[in-house]
Amino acid sequence: MNDCIFCKIAKGEIDSQKIYEDDTVLAFNDLDPQAPTHILVIPKEHIESAKDINESNSQVIAHIFEVISYIAGDLSLNDDGFRVVSNSGENAGQSVNHLHFHLLSGRPFAWPPG
Ligand code: 5GP
Ligand code: ZN
Repeated sequence: MNDCIFCKIAKGEIDSQKIYEDDTVLAFNDLDPQAPTHILVIPKEHIESAKDINESNSQVIAHIFEVISYIAGDLSLNDDGFRVVSNSGENAGQSVNHLHFHLLSGRPFAWPPG
């Protein structure tokens, strides 16, 4: 997608504070952190949101969760815990239409979410 900000970040055309990168997945700090740790984990390929996950692309989603587990261990997020959130569509508040998983940690999180 030519005008997608996360595609540009994935290609290195827009700078980000990278936490993890491999051939298919990128993790970087959120520009407007909502917790002491707020990392976005994205597939490098453009997938609009969770509604577009299917058998042709679900391998990268499985890999994203391996990466989340790796980051949680690497940054010692497991002791106090962490939350993984993916907003899909308007009611959920999705503001960037490239699938991303928020990895949040460093403070307690309320449930149910607002
Ligand atoms: P959403 O609202 O779609 O669930 O999450 C989008 C997230 O992307 C927001 O938390 C927002 O702060 C973050 N974001 C938007 N633009 C940029 C950017 O250019 N760089 C980074 N690092 N984060 C961004
Ligand atoms: Zn994109």
